[in-house]
Amino acid sequence: MPIDLTLEYDDQNIFAKILRGEIPCRKVFEDEWALAFDDINPQAPVHVLVIPKGAYVSWDDFSAKASDAEIAGFVRAVGHVGRVLGLVEPGYRMLANIGMDAHQEVPHLHIHIFGGKPLGPMLMR
Ligand code: AMP
Repeated sequence: MPIDLTLEYDDQNIFAKILRGEIPCRKVFEDEWALAFDDINPQAPVHVLVIPKGAYVSWDDFSAKASDAEIAGFVRAVGHVGRVLGLVEPGYRMLANIGMDAHQEVPHLHIHIFGGKPLGPMLMR
């Protein structure tokens, strides 16, 4: 079910548990600002999620409330993940779902990185 972004951050969400090490993930990259791991239900040959270490529900929440250092650190981490995965030359797609119409399911900001094949048009026609 998509989430209601009017709700407060829920520290029991699945990505908060991954950040605390309470449930496992297939880690791709980690630094002070971000954790990147394989999506459990990949939609492309490469499908990685990059999440900030801070408690932010969505891109909207993050862009409004995160510090400049958190924003810079996170944006650089997303770019770094694309590079370490070798996706820059062939190209890749990044995407964030925000709220109900976008069908955001996990209420902790995550950037999807898709790649590894030609991805076709951006949205279903
Ligand atoms: P969204 O619809 O943007 O909220 O996407 C949530 C994504 O999280 C989906 O692509 C799920 O497959 C993925 N996901 C859910 N639980 C896990 C998990 N435990 N480990 C990795 N990915 C997950």
